[in-house]
Amino acid sequence: MTDISRSIPPIFGTPIARPDIIALFSSGLDSILAAQAIQRQGLSVQAVHFITPFFDGGGREAHLCAHIRKQYGIPMVIADLTTPFLEMLADPPHGRGRHFNPCVDCKLMMLAAARAMAAAWGARGIVTGEVLGQRPFSQRRDTMRIIERDSGTEGFLLRPLSALLLPETEMEKSGFINREQLFGFSGRGRKAQMELAEQWGVTEYPTPAGGCLLTDPAFADRVRELYTGGRVPAAVEIELLKCGRFHSFMPAGFVIIGRNRSDNQRLEALADDRVRQLRLADLPGPLAAIVLTGTPAAAAAEQGDVKPGGAPGTGAGTEPTGKPAAETGPVTAHSPEAAVEITIAPLVTAAARLVMAHSRAKDRPTADLIWRQGKRHGSFTWTAATPQGVPTGGGDSNPDSSATRQSTT
Ligand code: SF4
Repeated sequence: MTDISRSIPPIFGTPIARPDIIALFSSGLDSILAAQAIQRQGLSVQAVHFITPFFDGGGREAHLCAHIRKQYGIPMVIADLTTPFLEMLADPPHGRGRHFNPCVDCKLMMLAAARAMAAAWGARGIVTGEVLGQRPFSQRRDTMRIIERDSGTEGFLLRPLSALLLPETEMEKSGFINREQLFGFSGRGRKAQMELAEQWGVTEYPTPAGGCLLTDPAFADRVRELYTGGRVPAAVEIELLKCGRFHSFMPAGFVIIGRNRSDNQRLEALADDRVRQLRLADLPGPLAAIVLTGTPAAAAAEQGDVKPGGAPGTGAGTEPTGKPAAETGPVTAHSPEAAVEITIAPLVTAAARLVMAHSRAKDRPTADLIWRQGKRHGSFTWTAATPQGVPTGGGDSNPDSSATRQSTT
């Protein structure tokens, strides 16, 4: 797993020179007040807003940075934790919350990253906008202590809004930060923070960006599916989950069907070598995104569709007789490429059915479809009689199948 404490994640924006303090910054009111509490003591603060595919700025990160600096006088950069976060999510050492949310390890990761930044940029401490007791688990006194201990930030991490209820940090003991100008807020209520905001002239403040998708039960279930078998999904797979109906065929893969024009456009923008896109050739209808997961041969073997190796000369997707796989049993692949094509075939067939079902072609017995994957593209004819397992996905055609005609480019 990536050790985030040893290297700084990719940063968007330019940090200020030698900040006194690094502030973990959600952009919600509490983080604004925490950063300003330090600035009001004459210290310089570099705010850091962390993003992953589950909590991000929705592509408006640059705007958010500019807005926070202009509106609140807080310089902010954005740090992308996508890679280590996706890895950690496979098996978070401190477990998960109610859904798929690994809150303790998420906070540990942010603090570890902030510690690395503080070391690199010369800051003397880290602050957060956490308020004691505001969240049922991660902001409990004992959990906050564990997070501090396990992130290696003991004495180095200050929560200005609840500082008077927590042990004194080294920064306060040394007089670097004046404890008397900090606060003793606690609990879920927001009244004290809102009064302070009014007192400091903070009249407009954003709600924290987006919220965390891992606490959304339906989305969390889909993400859990992508981690089937301990695999770590790519970031593009998480982005696809946000763009349409999810159909799981794990461990072989999954299919996303666009629900409307906006979904289709977003799916199209997520073109990637790992994603095969499928649509009707001559009618409006949904775009399908097909992702093959895991190693092709393993996934196929698990499905019972493919056995590795085999005698040369056997057509991919067919038994030596040339009959479709579904009629004749397991199929033999002769190369990794062939295995990919055969493995993805049931997914393509399923996706074609779904595209048909959600279009004006739903009552047609046959339809022409086109597909694209990276630089490759092709077309095929789907009929209601297409059996499961026929390799309609590309590469070698299946000349002996009367159900499917195909061309590739
Ligand atoms: S809710 Fe999401 S963003 Fe917040 S701590 Fe938990 S995992 Fe991290």
